[in-house]
Amino acid sequence: MELIIPAIKTAAGICGRQKLQEGQSCRLSRHCVSLMTEEGTLFYHVLTGALVLMPGQEITENDRRVLTENWFYVPEDFHEEQFADEVRRIAGMMPPPAKHRTSFTVLPTTDCNARCFYCYEIGIRRFSMSPETARDTAEYIRKASGGEAVRIRWFGGEPLYNREAIDIICTELGRGGTEYESGMVSTGYYMDEETVKKAVQLWHLKEIQITVDGTEKIYNRTKAYIDADANPFERVMKHIGLLLAARVGVTVRLNMDARNADDLLVLAEDISRRFAGSPNARAYVALLHDFTGKIHRFDTQKEILMKYRAICDKLKEHGMLRQKKLPRQIRLNCCMADDDASETILPDGRIGRCEHYSETMITGDIRSGERNEAVAQQWKERFSSPECAECALYPICNRLKMCEWNRDGCTEADREIRMAELKEQMLDALREYRERKGEEK
Ligand code: SF4
Ligand code: SF4
Repeated sequence: MELIIPAIKTAAGICGRQKLQEGQSCRLSRHCVSLMTEEGTLFYHVLTGALVLMPGQEITENDRRVLTENWFYVPEDFHEEQFADEVRRIAGMMPPPAKHRTSFTVLPTTDCNARCFYCYEIGIRRFSMSPETARDTAEYIRKASGGEAVRIRWFGGEPLYNREAIDIICTELGRGGTEYESGMVSTGYYMDEETVKKAVQLWHLKEIQITVDGTEKIYNRTKAYIDADANPFERVMKHIGLLLAARVGVTVRLNMDARNADDLLVLAEDISRRFAGSPNARAYVALLHDFTGKIHRFDTQKEILMKYRAICDKLKEHGMLRQKKLPRQIRLNCCMADDDASETILPDGRIGRCEHYSETMITGDIRSGERNEAVAQQWKERFSSPECAECALYPICNRLKMCEWNRDGCTEADREIRMAELKEQMLDALREYRERKGEEK
């Protein structure tokens, strides 16, 4: 047996070594994910983060002892969900609570020039931040951050539909001496040369996420811009090139449903040809959720996974796939909504939890500075479904009950995609381990 990655320090410290009574019968942990490789079987413990390789078919007495001590084997009647909750509860008490807010998602507007058929914001009020509210927002951020550097994420709607508010907030922050950098979620449609220049110099833009739903014809039809020029697809491609040349990290999000999946494979090749040479270009695939009733559904789970993998493999082949590594810390929160250091500021100055506009998330207002703790606590409640008890992903799954994305529960496709990603990460970890070992020789 070979230890590829040791357990996460905090997890190892909390769990300790498992000691069993003589003759106690055991089973493989539900939080253990196994994967056959050319070198043997990899076992990953999702709670502790330990990764081991078993070269042969046989598990020796000694292997079994080590695996048991490290929680890969547990007693038959062991309550793993409770154990994982307890480990996370203890881990959550370790870092001191955030003193200041340093991460802000700001919606300069909820309005947008695209009319994507799948938009989850269809029907919400379209409104923009006034110059006065932008100034108040900067003042609020300055006070809430307590002198610490802040990170702002411009979200919408389309944030560039109200760039004046972004200009004001950044100018005021700079004037007040607050250090800041920013990211953005945008269609990229308005990111022309002049805007990129301003984005780098004034907004301190470090990264941007741009959704591309298909090659030219499908993209132009899906986005259905109300102010479309002759070819919005080529315009956005050009803008991605400008951003990359200015060293802004660009993540292209490929939204997939049954109708565009084959086309996304072609797109993956196309964007790789255009941008794979840049170290700052990344892309990933996201499965669309059917909130609008207009999504084209796949016939089978198998089809979803097959198409999803094919696109990811294409991106990976060109070094474009956004890949995460196996976690090296116990993940305590899901996202901004349950993170006390984060806040979302709406165009009218109300403060909320989640980046997606919703009336159920309001915790306060930039002018009063008050915070409704009850709502903030509600946003920390975890989502659970009947499948969680048997799910290997449970220790790293932090979905929230209030999150819109969980409206349709936890789908089999979600789980399979997450599991496929985890297995890729296990293989990557083994590859990196071998490379390191090779270098050491
Ligand atoms: S609650 Fe859900 S939708 Fe909102 S920021 Fe978190 S993950 Fe995103
Ligand atoms: S992936 Fe789904 S079933 Fe698994 S733990 Fe998360 S919510 Fe539960």
